[in-house]
Amino acid sequence: YVFGKKKATEVAHLVWKHVVQKGDTVIDATCGNGYDTLAMVKMVADESARGCVYAMDIQNGALENASSLLEESLNPNEKGLVKLLPMCHSKMDKVVPEASVRLVAFNLGYLPGGDKTIITKPETTLPALEAAKGILMPGGLISLVVYVGHPGGWAESETVHTFASELPVDNWVCCKFQMLNRPWAPILVLLFKR
Ligand code: SAM
Repeated sequence: YVFGKKKATEVAHLVWKHVVQKGDTVIDATCGNGYDTLAMVKMVADESARGCVYAMDIQNGALENASSLLEESLNPNEKGLVKLLPMCHSKMDKVVPEASVRLVAFNLGYLPGGDKTIITKPETTLPALEAAKGILMPGGLISLVVYVGHPGGWAESETVHTFASELPVDNWVCCKFQMLNRPWAPILVLLFKR
């Protein structure tokens, strides 16, 4: 019942809280307006200023919105843990070492309140998932909120589904959270690395 009332993004945050520990390194692969980044900073921040959140986006406008949100919502210690990066998430393995990241989170689709023609696309989402696989530590999680309602959304969802279905069962637990009576609602895909 608790899950039934919540949006996919809220369920995602609940799951992240069970996986992420203070001092962890995590990645927000689709920073957008910064709401997921903000939630992640709260999860990793501890007194001794360890922890790191890499937040990436290809739109400078998105990173500016995120920067304002973080500016008004975080203390100086917490702010110091965030790296806002204007880059494509398919290159995430170039900025962090292998097997060092606890969580890589994707919130696919377009920027809320922004240009609806700038969307995540299978041709970069798939290499980003491959990159995420390499930098994730054992016990880590790749989390995706996948939208099917916009043009291109369904194809991207299929790409994610195929990627997840093919991960070796000995090393990965892959599941999805989907509203059966709301076929156009976003789908939460969770890929746990053993
Ligand atoms: N999580 C965000 C929030 O809390 O506001 C919302 C993310 S929004 C649904 C998707 C974002 O992905 C957009 O801001 C878009 O610019 C970004 N994006 C699209 N393609 C990308 C890529 N190849 N690499 C990184 N970000 C990308």
